[in-house]
Amino acid sequence: MSTSPDPGAPAPARRRHARWWWLGGTLVLLLTGAAFVAAELEHRAWVEAVAEYEAEVARVTEEAETSRARAEEAYADGLATLTGAIDQARPVYRASEDQVADPAVRDPLDDALAEGRRLRDAEVAYPVETRTVEAVTRPNPFFAEELPAVTVEVVDAAQPDPAALESAATDLVSTADAVAAARREWAVAELRPATDEGRYALTGLRAQDADLGLGALDDAVTAAEAVLDAGVDAVDPDAAVRLRDTLIETSASLWRTRLDQITAERRAAARADGVDCRVDRCVALTFDDGPVAETERLLRILERKDAPATFFMVGDNVARNPQIARAVADGGHLVANHSWSHPQLTTLDDAAVREELRSTSDAIREATGTAPFLLRPPYGDVDGRVRSLATRAGLDVMLWNLDTLDWETRDAKETRRAVRKQVEPGSNVLMHDIHATTVDAVGKIIKDLRDEDYVLVTADLLVDDED
Ligand SMILES: [Zn+2]
Repeated sequence: MSTSPDPGAPAPARRRHARWWWLGGTLVLLLTGAAFVAAELEHRAWVEAVAEYEAEVARVTEEAETSRARAEEAYADGLATLTGAIDQARPVYRASEDQVADPAVRDPLDDALAEGRRLRDAEVAYPVETRTVEAVTRPNPFFAEELPAVTVEVVDAAQPDPAALESAATDLVSTADAVAAARREWAVAELRPATDEGRYALTGLRAQDADLGLGALDDAVTAAEAVLDAGVDAVDPDAAVRLRDTLIETSASLWRTRLDQITAERRAAARADGVDCRVDRCVALTFDDGPVAETERLLRILERKDAPATFFMVGDNVARNPQIARAVADGGHLVANHSWSHPQLTTLDDAAVREELRSTSDAIREATGTAPFLLRPPYGDVDGRVRSLATRAGLDVMLWNLDTLDWETRDAKETRRAVRKQVEPGSNVLMHDIHATTVDAVGKIIKDLRDEDYVLVTADLLVDDED
């Protein structure tokens, strides 16, 4: 079919021409379409770029406007936390002085307080940095457009860093907690022996059947026992310290009253017997460190002379020779406390001093039926602390004022001479019944004294003694 000529067909030249027109038209249409598509795509990309640019500008502008307020707020929060922690920690640190001895517990709180104060007092700064939104250029040469670069200033953070303030506050809280826990333990360790002293005073004073109001001490002991039962974690150290002080003061004051009563009663009884050291030439012979076998010989001499004496006994010897201690008391002599093992009391801690005094008093009471009320500290070694502990154990401290040095000379004649040379009304004569040479001298010493019109008394009756 295609090979047969078509009579209606145009001439070949016209046909060719028409084909070109058709082709050209198609091409133009295609190109125009492509151009439209390309322009549309470019436009959309540009719109997107503009939107991104504007969003970024809005973002940095907002950041610039609000960053300082945010940084200030964060700093203020951190500062408030830190200031609160300092205010909580400072009293704990102050109160722990003389209470928490371990520097490993207390020093970290000291350091944390120093760091906290340093940060709290540091001048705050808000360093600024710039944020830039890059310029955007439209690549289309027909619609040349450019969005300019935008630069704003933004506060990045506060100096000091709020995080550092918070961390310093955390340190303060944890180190203060450790000190507070150590304080609670300390308070319990303080309260326990004071409670024990209160109980000891209640028992001792009740046993003496003295006319003393014990209600306040009873209440304090009950309160303290409740605190101790509740456990260390529940302890309020300040309340425990007040309770400790109440117990100590009340025990001491009741004992003080009782000791004064005993002295007054014994002096009144002596006056009733015709001895008054305010007018008489009183001398007290005192014998330390027994009772030992030699003490029995001394007792016979004293009995023959009808002379009273005072025996400051070592508890350990009382426990070994209770029957001698008993014989001393039965002989009308005054039995007193000279510690358990003859140490220098000032070198011992409180608990050890209490133990030295109480065990001796207990041994004497067990052996003789009567608790002693005088203490002569070995070597005369005493200070305010030991005196206070003695009072709270129901003991008055008594030293001496005439030293025979019998332990050194170990010579009966020297011992006798030492007394004769130094004696005066009110003399409290120190001797030791553990030395035979001393016991040998006693009969002659008594004769010498009586020849000089001295009156022999137990040491508590002397009016110019230690008290
Ligand atoms: Zn002694």
